[in-house]
Formats: sequence, structure tokens, C-alpha cells
Amino acid sequence: MTVKNTAALIDVEANTFILSDPSHLLLSLDDLAAHRGDGIFETVLVTYRDDSTLIHNQALHFERFIESARTLELPTPDPKLWEEALRATAKQFKELNPDAHTASIRYTLSRGHDSDTTTHTPHGWTVTSHVPRPEPTEITVVALNSGFTSDIAEAAPWLLRGAKTLSYATNQAAKRYALNNGADDALFHTSDGYALEGPNSTLILRVGDQLITPDPKIGILHGTTQRCIFENASKQGLLTQYSNVSMDDLGKAQAAWLVSSIRGCRPISTIVTTASDTATHIPVDHDLTEHILQWVLSS
Ligand code: PLP
Repeated sequence: MTVKNTAALIDVEANTFILSDPSHLLLSLDDLAAHRGDGIFETVLVTYRDDSTLIHNQALHFERFIESARTLELPTPDPKLWEEALRATAKQFKELNPDAHTASIRYTLSRGHDSDTTTHTPHGWTVTSHVPRPEPTEITVVALNSGFTSDIAEAAPWLLRGAKTLSYATNQAAKRYALNNGADDALFHTSDGYALEGPNSTLILRVGDQLITPDPKIGILHGTTQRCIFENASKQGLLTQYSNVSMDDLGKAQAAWLVSSIRGCRPISTIVTTASDTATHIPVDHDLTEHILQWVLSS
């Protein structure tokens, strides 16, 4: 299927947006987002069913967008403006691609242009991509040392750990490393042995009837998908917990997943450590995986 994407350019100061064609040059070449990664973003999953359009977990995404803006000292995004831009983008994508059932929309706030030497004027945009419906494919992950210790977020706030900034080159490199080493994805851990997150996903594990995820205070993104899963799991009587998870404890889990907005949930069946050339197998909980995917797709 040939996909036609769409975009909206958001004038934060004027509180307006216009729909645009992303195949045209829309960004100025001195944009700080483009060459400094100086900005923030979110990526939401959109599903189209009959006449309705669902932007999944939009409130949680927007809450995190506002929090990232605060961390980077960017102006607080106006929910009404961005919500309208997102809705219009989602609607135009469906008009351009009537057969599409799913899409992703990335929305970004850039600090502005490098040539604005004194004060920068932030501006934003949305852009669509076609994505497949999330499938719970089992994955092998490679464990990668992030080079950080577990106290990094508190010890070095200028690293912006926990904010969703545009600086993703190392995450992309980790994914390439995983693929080049025969794995499907990567899982970062601290240099003192605690599990962190994937390059674009959050780790959840099951121990007995408890779901556990690494505490975001360790310096990771607080995932919207994980929060949605925990909320639904609690309603079903499962216990949920944020805590530091050692890689040894992860290896003893009864199930584990990498979860994210666009890919839903992927059960981890094997964790490979290239340094010691070892593989740890983790059971796959097919029933819970199905439930988790349903929770994510209906939120
Ligand atoms: N951690 C990182 C570093 C990410 O980039 C992402 C999403 O892209 C996630 C976790 C998962 O977050 P969410 O569930 O909100 O998509």
C-alpha cells in the first residue's frame, strides 16, 4: 500500500496550526531540533474503527510532553492547540489513506532556530507514519551497558534522563547493535547491574501475581503504555510495583515484556549478554500477553 503522509505546522506563539504535506521542505535548515536535537516529542498510536478515530493514551502522552517541556525549560504546550492539531492530522491521514486501520503521529516541539541569537521562538509540528497493528511477537534482546550508574538521574540532572528529548542517536545505535548481533531489540542496564529500558520501550516483568517495572527515578522514561497496563492490571487484581530490578532478578522472572505505544507488548523469550556470550531464557506468558495487548488497544 502506498501511503500518503500528512503533517501540521504549529505556531505556538500565534496559537494556530496549518495542515501541510510532509514531503515538502517544512523545516528551516537552522532548526535546533534538526542539528542539536534540542526539543521534545511524543509518538501516539492511532486506530481507525468504523467511523471512530482513537488516539491511544493521549492524556498520558500529553502529560509527559508537558513534563518534558518543563525539564527542558520550554514553554508549556497548550493542550487545546495540540489536541486540535493531532485530531486534524489523524483525520487527514484517514482521508488520504481510506484503507488504513492504524497510524502513528509524532508531535514535536523545537526550541526554534539557531539564528535567533538572543531569544529562541519555539515552534512545533505533527507528522504521520503508517504502522502495522501491534502484534505480540516474541523477541530476543541483547543486554547493553548504558554506562550510567543507578544514581545518575539525581546526580546529573543536566543529562535530562526521564525527559523525552529528540536526542536519540545512541538509542538508534543500540538498536542497530542488537540487529547486527542477531537479536530483535536491546535492553539497557546500569553499570551497577540494574535493568533500565529498551531504546524505545519500557520493561515489565511478572513475578508471581505481581507486575514490576523499573522505577523511572533510576533515569528512564516513564512509559505511557506501562502506566496503562498497570492501571488495567490493578483493576484485574494483579499487584503492580515500581522498583529497581537487578539483571539477575530479571533472569528469574516468570515473564517479561518490552512495551511501547507503537509496538504494544512484545514478550521477551531470551536475554543475550554478548560480553560473556550467555543467553538467559524467560518463559512466555501467552494468556497475560493477550490481555495486555487488549488493554493497550482499548485505552
Ligand atoms: N523508553 C524510551 C526510551 C522510549 O523512547 C519509549 C517510547 O518511544 C518508551 C520507553 C515507551 O514509552 P511509551 O509507552 O510511552 O511509548
